[in-house]
Amino acid sequence: MTVTSKDAQTEGTVNPREMALQQLAESAERIGLSEAIHKKLAKPKRIVIVYIPTLMDDGGFEVFTGYRVQHSMERGPCKGGIRYHPDVTLDEVIALAMWMTWKCAVVNIPYGGAKGGVTCDPQSMSQGELERMTRRFTSELVEVIGPEKDIPAPDMGTNEQVMAWMMDTYSMNKGYVVPGVVTGKPLSLGGSRGRSEATGRGCIFVIEKVLRAKGMSPEGATMAVQGFGKVGSVTVRLASEIGFDVIAVSDIWGAVYNRRGLDVDALLKHARETGSVKGFPEAEDIARDDVLTIKCDVLVPAALEGTITKHNAEQVQARIIAEAANGPTTPDAQQILDDKGVFVIPDILTNAGGATVSYFEWVQSIQAYFWSEEEVNSNLRKVMIQAFHDVYAMSEANGLNMRDAAMDLAVSRVAEAQRLRGIYP
Ligand code: GLU
Repeated sequence: MTVTSKDAQTEGTVNPREMALQQLAESAERIGLSEAIHKKLAKPKRIVIVYIPTLMDDGGFEVFTGYRVQHSMERGPCKGGIRYHPDVTLDEVIALAMWMTWKCAVVNIPYGGAKGGVTCDPQSMSQGELERMTRRFTSELVEVIGPEKDIPAPDMGTNEQVMAWMMDTYSMNKGYVVPGVVTGKPLSLGGSRGRSEATGRGCIFVIEKVLRAKGMSPEGATMAVQGFGKVGSVTVRLASEIGFDVIAVSDIWGAVYNRRGLDVDALLKHARETGSVKGFPEAEDIARDDVLTIKCDVLVPAALEGTITKHNAEQVQARIIAEAANGPTTPDAQQILDDKGVFVIPDILTNAGGATVSYFEWVQSIQAYFWSEEEVNSNLRKVMIQAFHDVYAMSEANGLNMRDAAMDLAVSRVAEAQRLRGIYP
């Protein structure tokens, strides 16, 4: 299973770093942020670029480019995933690091934001190649990551195994086991119950809350999901468990549609067996990007950034968009959606469940004391619901859409920490 690729983007998509800076500038203006703090938050704290010589299976060497961007440590150590994807660029990683800062602040967990990435195509690499690349990348980062400094996690193209190699490489370099250096580890190495499903589960908690706030119920509501990877597939399964009719799902190879609702268990089985949702017998194959413009109650973009743009926003027919991906909606598209009355639940709220359970995993790793899955899920629910209420209250009080409210809440929290700490020296 995989997620959709950047091919879904249309010409003229904005650069993600510019998009993140524009969001910050607009929030700074609304909340009256001091110029000093705005200037500081517009830049990352640190950018590390490394070149990763990797022995390939054919005996040759490839030199990959890897990044770790630490945006802020105002509220705690940096936190954020590692992405392996052919389109990874420094600007993308900078934007994703900044969004992690806001995400951790929205759900009020004690972290700053970071992101990492390697420009590579993990789908065409063997396990051995991935392991050698990951270990060399990690050893290049040994001085800048650590449980008290910066804690990587999985993102697109990485998984529990990659986290296990990172944890092992870091630990071997230190000379002792350091489980708290990464989250999203396998359970047997100190991972947390509930982590692998946490982003999808968190999305569902927030979507359900929004539906109820609008006097709707998941029972019989329709959903379309773009992307069938770690986040999209879990969201689809949990949505169907609470009564949604999931009518359309896409992945990198195509999309399927059934007006009466897809049989989600059968679809998951089909995707596991064939590697794609495409060709699912109990549905109609449709063009991949049509999933974004299908008539439904809730549209969940769960792929890459920049997929809802000024080129397709006008055609969106969903009542609610829940951004499970990071940065799927460009600022021009948001404007169009606002004008159409589409209720957009922003990424930094919708998909914060992964970072939240990563926080729980880090706490468990440091304490070497592990929680039950019920405890993880019920604490996740509390955090997500509280964050939803905080953002919703801000949006109602100030007449803002949910994205602007979430940004203002996050930036204010980070700015308050910055103001109290001061700027060193
Ligand atoms: N990569 C995920 C995200 O974008 C999780 C980050 C984490 O758990 O640190 O939210």
